[in-house]
Amino acid sequence: MNLQIATASSASENGNNALDKIGSMVRACIQCGTCTGSCPNALEMDMTPRKMWRLVNLGRLAEIMASRTFILCSDCYTCTLRCPRGLPLTDAMEALKGIAFARRERRHRSSRLFYEKFMQTVRRHGRIREMAFMTRYFTAMKSPTVPLRFAPLGIKLMGKGKVEIGLGKTVATPLDALFEKVADLERTTCAPLENEGHG
Ligand code: SF4
Ligand code: SF4
Repeated sequence: MNLQIATASSASENGNNALDKIGSMVRACIQCGTCTGSCPNALEMDMTPRKMWRLVNLGRLAEIMASRTFILCSDCYTCTLRCPRGLPLTDAMEALKGIAFARRERRHRSSRLFYEKFMQTVRRHGRIREMAFMTRYFTAMKSPTVPLRFAPLGIKLMGKGKVEIGLGKTVATPLDALFEKVADLERTTCAPLENEGHG
């Protein structure tokens, strides 16, 4: 067999493996569109949730990873509650985020860093501290335009007393054991995805 064809075929098989678990969650989808009609964020999505589940069932990982639909899911659970087949759609959206972050997809870098820095701040301080969180996020993004984009919102929130000024003290947090446990679980469930290469 031609080597290039063999390599492409192998990558495709790995991608399908990554989607297998999610596919089993949405296999019973009847394409009724209730999830799309119920989603408060659907208008901002570049692909409807209904179409995304169709692509999951077809194993089309590259097209799914190129979309921001699952990134824009805000975990409201409306689609999960309304799906006539009772499918765990919010969990499936979260699983897609997990795949994109484990594969370190370039298109979703800013979202991945946002999640990572948020959780690192919670781990270090025992709760979210906005200034510490945004400092970590801006540093990781390595782009001077990112803080500028957030500035108007930050100023507005500070004016309303919603943002605590200062980086805050590090406290002894009981969350370490919890984070270690989750890291162990992620090592076992996400390692195969990381080995699939970066899209
Ligand atoms: S609501 Fe459920 S059955 Fe209908 S399209 Fe969405 S996932 Fe499929
Ligand atoms: S859980 Fe996500 S995909 Fe489902 S309705 Fe809410 S925002 Fe939309």
